[in-house]
Amino acid sequence: MAYIKVLNNQTIDKIAAGEVVNRPASVVKELVENSIDAQAEDIIVEIFNGGLSFISVTDNGMGIDFYDVETAFKRHTTSKIYSFEDLEKITTLGFRGEALASIAAVSKIEIFTKTKKDTTGLYMELVGGEIRRKEELGMPPGTKIIVRDLFFNVPVRRKHLKNINSETAAVGDCISKLLLANPSKRITYKVDGSLIFKSSGNNKLIDSISSTLGSDAVKKMSEVRYKDGSYYINGYTSLLEYTRGNRSCQYFIVNGRCIYSKLLSEALDEAYHTLLPKNRFPIAVLSISAPSELIDVNVHPTKNEIRWMEHKKIKKAVQDAVFLSIKESGLIVGHNFIKNESTINASRHIKKSENDIKNIYYNEEHDNNIKNIKEQEHFVFDKKTDYWTDLIPFKQIDNTYILAQYIGKEGFFIIDQHAAHERIIYDFLIEKLKTFEAVSQTIITPITIELTPAENSIIYDYLDILHEFGFVLEHFGSNTFVIRTIPSGISKLNPEEFIKDFLSDKKENIDKEKAYNELLQLIACKGAVKAGEKMEMEEMRRLLLKLKNTSNPFTCPHGRPVSIYFSKEDLVKIFYR
Ligand code: ADP
Ligand code: MG
Repeated sequence: MAYIKVLNNQTIDKIAAGEVVNRPASVVKELVENSIDAQAEDIIVEIFNGGLSFISVTDNGMGIDFYDVETAFKRHTTSKIYSFEDLEKITTLGFRGEALASIAAVSKIEIFTKTKKDTTGLYMELVGGEIRRKEELGMPPGTKIIVRDLFFNVPVRRKHLKNINSETAAVGDCISKLLLANPSKRITYKVDGSLIFKSSGNNKLIDSISSTLGSDAVKKMSEVRYKDGSYYINGYTSLLEYTRGNRSCQYFIVNGRCIYSKLLSEALDEAYHTLLPKNRFPIAVLSISAPSELIDVNVHPTKNEIRWMEHKKIKKAVQDAVFLSIKESGLIVGHNFIKNESTINASRHIKKSENDIKNIYYNEEHDNNIKNIKEQEHFVFDKKTDYWTDLIPFKQIDNTYILAQYIGKEGFFIIDQHAAHERIIYDFLIEKLKTFEAVSQTIITPITIELTPAENSIIYDYLDILHEFGFVLEHFGSNTFVIRTIPSGISKLNPEEFIKDFLSDKKENIDKEKAYNELLQLIACKGAVKAGEKMEMEEMRRLLLKLKNTSNPFTCPHGRPVSIYFSKEDLVKIFYR
């Protein structure tokens, strides 16, 4: 007896539908993408009950030819490509010819459509993929598709959906992405009868960002404009004080398609490396234009991912583009305490007159437990000005903080001595590693160090990278090693303790990139003056002088603040004068 059977078409369709359509948001995405491909300028999206009972997408695009409508609902039917080779120069969002068939297979669908040249339009109704009604109809050119009772015939799928609120949120997120990727389209979005937004369609990305992330977001972002060979990168990326606890606000748009990309998220991480605290992530909307032959869009049925032919190059380009934008904005973020409306307003003209702005304030929510002061503020200054030259220490408090004044200006600074020194050493190391200057210094009396069996079993994997940073270690029988050289110019480091600390959480199979960054940060941390250490006036003076020349005198390599500034205005506010 034969056990293997060919599945009937309905079953095949339902199975295939699962790849493209898994929740209301995916239906919205596919329908709006079709409208965009049809060159619509106006697109209206409406949902009820999270899209489970009702989704409609109406456009004023080119419409579907009278004789093509039935075909459009069959599987693997498309007007966008004719052969596999066409995929290499694809300019449309769709190309797989699956969406309409998939949606129809698992819902009750109605379509109204008319092209410019047809004299009448067409109305068609399908239930579970089967045509129930088809008639001529008078209407303006364009297409309207209504999808009701999604998954009415796939109970398991329906059961797996989240509640209405989550489905509504997912649709909202999908609309946001479509809006960011298509700032030239007028997109109207309604939920349960109320208007959520209507975009202007003026083709300005900044306005799309304002509609999706809020108008406040825009003020805290810096523009990105970059070209690397045939890649163009445009968009906005957040200033240092504007971050999130996750990556949910990172949008990458490639040739008009909003995609998910681990590669590009990593590029962002690297651009902000050491500038943000651990577990804080930048917000960014980056629109990349790339030659279509250098990307493969046919990686996933939902077309949410793409493959890069030159993945190293694009990663580097995005990293450089973003880094340049943060750097060129000239804004290094400092910290001060009091909210000051007039200066917040001053920050708004930052972009226009970067060069002549000295102290500008930005507000951001931040926890701190100082009485009466609910918000810690960040102040932003133009690093190009010679601000730090005049910073004079006048007192160390708790052997941990330096009080400093800058001549010719009111107010004062509190500087965390350890964090400041960490920043100095970190920058010093980066510079040395970059220029291959001698990084090591021989120690006159070599230090022997005893390793535990666990440490001993992994140290060999790390000898090379330790060497790169100036530590030369030699095996000296059983579990003993000798430290012959240490990194030069870092006097506070205790080599034995350092090696032990470094090895403490290491495993076999070295991750070189990770170890490199850890070494940088650990040397900076261990080599820096500690909190609780007394400093002489002259030492403090030298520290502040060196701090001035670092890449960022306001943030330590872990992203924590180095200094806090109290301006004259802050003091007036604190004391209610
Ligand atoms: P694909 O978009 O991959 O081509 P779809 O199943 O989404 O496949 O759509 C099938 C075809 O139906 C499209 O190629 C297009 O010709 C037509 N179509 C779908 N939606 C619209 C629309 N809103 N306006 C005009 N044509 C449309
Ligand atoms: Mg499509």
